[in-house]
Amino acid sequence: MGLSQTIWNNPTEYMRVQAPENPVLLFAPTVLQETARRFLAGFPGLVTYAVKSNPDEMVIQNLAAAGVRGYDVASPFEIEMIRRLAPDAAMHYNNPVRSRREIAFALENGVRSYSVDSHSELRKLADMLPAQGTEIAVRFKLPVAGAAYDFGAKFGASAELATDLLRTVAALGFIPSLTFHAGTQCTDPMAWDAYIRTAARIAADADVQLARLNVGGGFPAHRQVAHLPQLEEIFALIDRVSTEVFGQLRPSLVCEPGRGIVGESCVLIARVKALRDDTHVFLNDGYYGSMNELALIGMIDRVQVVSPDGHLRKAPAIGRIVFGPTCDSTDRMPGAVMLPGDTAEGDYVVIHGMGAYATVTNTRFNGFGELTIATTLSLAL
Ligand SMILES: *Cc1c(COP(=O)(O)O)cnc(C)c1O
Repeated sequence: MGLSQTIWNNPTEYMRVQAPENPVLLFAPTVLQETARRFLAGFPGLVTYAVKSNPDEMVIQNLAAAGVRGYDVASPFEIEMIRRLAPDAAMHYNNPVRSRREIAFALENGVRSYSVDSHSELRKLADMLPAQGTEIAVRFKLPVAGAAYDFGAKFGASAELATDLLRTVAALGFIPSLTFHAGTQCTDPMAWDAYIRTAARIAADADVQLARLNVGGGFPAHRQVAHLPQLEEIFALIDRVSTEVFGQLRPSLVCEPGRGIVGESCVLIARVKALRDDTHVFLNDGYYGSMNELALIGMIDRVQVVSPDGHLRKAPAIGRIVFGPTCDSTDRMPGAVMLPGDTAEGDYVVIHGMGAYATVTNTRFNGFGELTIATTLSLAL
């Protein structure tokens, strides 16, 4: 990935001046800091950032500058980076499976909070970590609709197993907490309602007073024009339901947004390489590049098309089949993608809301994947 040090005014200026042949992710630090402050001001507890959603160092530095003091890390690489860029921040190692080498690395680097969803991983942690001053959060799951995909398919204990694990965590002398992830791009606030109620029941059944409840990530970003994320509504619901179900024993709350905090901060600029027989649009970015997640969880419809000289294409949109650049038939966006009828070869396709899960999935398959990251003041064309 190349990094341009110039700060551009807006995407149109970048396209006109640079005429980029390879995909570009334009990052607006001001947008990231604004969203971070929205979480810090509105969430009734500690805001931590899920590093995996966009581990770019500029992103971490801007979040630290905005006042984010905690990070959800999942690997030694992420731990090392946060230690270096935000030395005073808390790190929560909330990947419920880790090797012994990874646990030792975390301990050496000052990580004091871990999650588990199984007895075997809890035994591993108990073997290696001092109970005193170490938090272990039991991760549980529910079958919940409303998210873009099911996070419970890989991690999370049933409520019954979580009750047993929580009891064991407390008996071993660790600081006992609970955590969950309602599923990414979760647009239904009621998902948090169900999870928080279940958390209270697990704590009561285990007869354990929770130190903290981590309500996970899953906060939605603005992906569809018609669907503005209702962050403040979700914050208010989390606050109200936590007080209702825990009363005097309400634990401190933690959240760990990835997409919800970073999604809006970047636009992707891809170029139309070819318009084959007026039906198939071939872009220079796709499934094996930074558009991987679009193929998995659905296209963002906040898309604009700009001619090489910087004019917005305005003809009524028509559905096109959109392919990426590789010679692999998986490299296709789902369904028909609505693009202006006057879209032409050489145009730029600007996709908004591409800050999360885009840089991280970029591969070099077939020799593509040369992605430039540049900085801009504004993301409006
Ligand atoms: C990925 C992840 C997150 C962030 O999820 P988003 O849907 O991007 O908010 C938070 N917590 C954990 C444990 C994760 O694995």
